[in-house]
Amino acid sequence: MRYDVDGERLWARLMAMAKIGATPEGGSCRQALSDEDEAGRALFLGWCAARGYQFRRDRIGNLLLRRAGRNPEAGPVLIGSHLDTQPTGGRFDGVLGVLAGLEVLETLDDRAVETDRPIDLCVWTNEEGCRFQPAMMGSGVACGALDLETVFAARDHAGISLASEIVRHGYDREPWPRLADAACYLELHIEQGPILEAEAKTIGVVTGGQGIRWYEISVVGEETHAGPVPMALRKDPVPVLAHVISLVQAIGRSDEAARCTIGKIELSPGAINVVPGRADMTVDLRHPDEAVLDAMHRRFMDGLAALGHGHPEIDLNARPTWHSPVVAFDSRLINTVRDSATDRGLPYRDIVSGAGHDAFNLARRVPTTMIFVPCRQGISHNPREYAAPADVTAGANVLLDVVLVQTRLG
Ligand SMILES: [Zn+2]
Repeated sequence: MRYDVDGERLWARLMAMAKIGATPEGGSCRQALSDEDEAGRALFLGWCAARGYQFRRDRIGNLLLRRAGRNPEAGPVLIGSHLDTQPTGGRFDGVLGVLAGLEVLETLDDRAVETDRPIDLCVWTNEEGCRFQPAMMGSGVACGALDLETVFAARDHAGISLASEIVRHGYDREPWPRLADAACYLELHIEQGPILEAEAKTIGVVTGGQGIRWYEISVVGEETHAGPVPMALRKDPVPVLAHVISLVQAIGRSDEAARCTIGKIELSPGAINVVPGRADMTVDLRHPDEAVLDAMHRRFMDGLAALGHGHPEIDLNARPTWHSPVVAFDSRLINTVRDSATDRGLPYRDIVSGAGHDAFNLARRVPTTMIFVPCRQGISHNPREYAAPADVTAGANVLLDVVLVQTRLG
């Protein structure tokens, strides 16, 4: 038996959620643990309460909404994503997975469908990692990849600690986080890349995720006046910065599947007539093959060491800050996604996730996969982020199909 979600209800909720923290450009700003994030959760929980789903929350603020199954002892099927956004976020990243999950639960209720296993709809805290690092924090804590006490020490730009926000929202009164012995985890998400749209595919069958390595680089020289000091006598970090940029770009262009990004550069003090005393930057390296990512990492480290030797006038420091290894999703679940797309006549293709997702943390604990739908021009983390209503509905229908297969016992 196949069921269809109510695409109009899902779309209306996506648009209603987007109004919370709405930005003038048409996107949303609900950074993790902010008042806007909390308001978004309240809106969501109101919809859930109206259907009577049992609600739990853990000490990092992850929300779990349960639709009971026939067998309360059976491990639940987990579905979900996140409601927090980037400061200039869009209306679909994360929100789609959560609200499509709610749509799955409600569709089952509307049709009075009983499932063997319970279904837990998860909202993971701080997936984006823009206000508090690291990203994918709530799922990381729930899956044991991150330590609760360590993440509590994280501070935002204003110096506010994550722990104080947890107390402010009352999450500290919740029990210690523990992930149930789940049957599997499924996450619907926009692709955040241009491939599905370019190939006119509705469904991305996600086979896994790229490995990611993050670094903070600092180049320290000596601040001096832009006029009197001859070029040869300066301890200027900027020429070295240029070499670091070239190195990162060369690594990125050495392999078609490699992705290398310098997302942030800061010169201090940052004045037109001062040779900067210091340059700081972030580097993000990604590849779907762990061995190649390792080689990229070594080439980067060796290149920086050589640069440091070649420029004794400056201090070059590289600090690796994060490593998320390559993730392979569960082949049985992947096949179920393919079967659903085939049954529904939806064009699909296999795809590797370029972005990080909560599903990467879950994949280390339970069989996991993701479903992608196209987003216009591949744009995300941007107010212009857009997924067409028909694709949103199609993705939710595939999620529903896979949930129905996975909730079956025996
Ligand atoms: Zn996301």
